[in-house]
Amino acid sequence: MSIKLPHNFVEEFYSRTLLFSKYSVGSEKDLEYFTRLKSIEVAITGSKEILQTFNGQHMLFMVANLLSRFCLLIDLVLPSDIKTTIKFPFAKKDYLSVCLESLCKKINPCLSLEKGNKQKRYDIVIAIGSCETDLGRTIFINSDGWIAYVNTQGNPLGWVSNNPNPIGAQTAACIGTAEAFKAIFSTFKGSNPYNTIAGGSIVFSTFDYGFKNNPMINPQLPTSIFIDTLDLISLGAINSATLYTLCAIPGLKGNLILVEPQKLEISNLNRYLLTMAEDAILQKSKIEVARKFADNYLGVESAFSVKYQELKNPRKAFGMDLTVVGVDNNESRWEIQKDLPKVLLCGGTEVSKIQISRHDNISEKACLGCLYPKTMESSQFIPTVSFISAFSGVLLAAEIIKEKVENFKDFCLDNILNIDALNISHYQVCQLGKSPDCACNCGKFT
Ligand SMILES: [Zn+2]
Repeated sequence: MSIKLPHNFVEEFYSRTLLFSKYSVGSEKDLEYFTRLKSIEVAITGSKEILQTFNGQHMLFMVANLLSRFCLLIDLVLPSDIKTTIKFPFAKKDYLSVCLESLCKKINPCLSLEKGNKQKRYDIVIAIGSCETDLGRTIFINSDGWIAYVNTQGNPLGWVSNNPNPIGAQTAACIGTAEAFKAIFSTFKGSNPYNTIAGGSIVFSTFDYGFKNNPMINPQLPTSIFIDTLDLISLGAINSATLYTLCAIPGLKGNLILVEPQKLEISNLNRYLLTMAEDAILQKSKIEVARKFADNYLGVESAFSVKYQELKNPRKAFGMDLTVVGVDNNESRWEIQKDLPKVLLCGGTEVSKIQISRHDNISEKACLGCLYPKTMESSQFIPTVSFISAFSGVLLAAEIIKEKVENFKDFCLDNILNIDALNISHYQVCQLGKSPDCACNCGKFT
């Protein structure tokens, strides 16, 4: 990186992560969480056969991206001769290990990144599929199409999937990284056992959320998908991740309308998947970074650097089709809902909890005002971390695809999904009706 790091870089970079750790793990002082994150040695490794696939490369890129945003000592224990086969904005170099090294250092210039040592024992290892040698406590991840697999009990997941759907791969990376976070703090003094106990054997379907049903439904993606015009309201951490996933889907075409008034800050780096340290230091606009990432994948029809409330967009009057909301305040959620998009998808997070909701038939079911009825106390300091917002964004992208592929429409979320990323097996899909306390007064639409 050619520019100088500001004196408060590390403090700002870690500010949200330390808050997240404190809220989710226990009540120690910030310094103790930082000391732990600074000293933990992590390795990323995997099976060569899997890493040569589209699926394996998407798992690997996402794991590296997520871990670089909160760890400081990462070794890449990977064969050096694997070629990059995915076409993705972060995958511009010939060899996979070279791409990853460059990506991780651009995200976190303070990172110590080594090639790794097969004789060494690491505190935590994330292995894509399986690994050649025992490097320490290992979290195995794998995926196939819409489905993510994670194992924290030492059982490799060694099959090779050539499925070109990145959604399960990126989900596996989010869940695996959440398990790594838990493992980092599992021996921490005063840690909350509910949030640090290992997940065991996890299977999660982003298609029907039906990992309790057998057999799981896992349809192939069509070779081309047209998503038409998609309104992305906010390009914060959640919708940045949605865009990340959309750009990874082969054959996806469409036009984006982007709405986001803010500029990047260093404290965003712990969770904005598209943002590199230099972008944040130079305080580039969030829209500019998103637009650059999406170029060549999805067209950007218009980009508005204003708050949704100030937006003078004729689409608001003519009706928006599919609108994806990643804003972090309820007032904006109500304003968007009141403009009655045909389908509104919303992602929200609170510490480790993720809520995804879909709103179409608001004469009968909950609207965003029913779901978020209260004015929020404004807080600048949100406890959050990379894998939480990334997971929400990937799930929103999965919902966008279901919305736009005729055969998948029956599987669109109905209507609320609640997940705790630190306690993944207790997810819940539920139907919520209208609330008498609705902030949008949606009773008038009946
Ligand atoms: Zn309502």
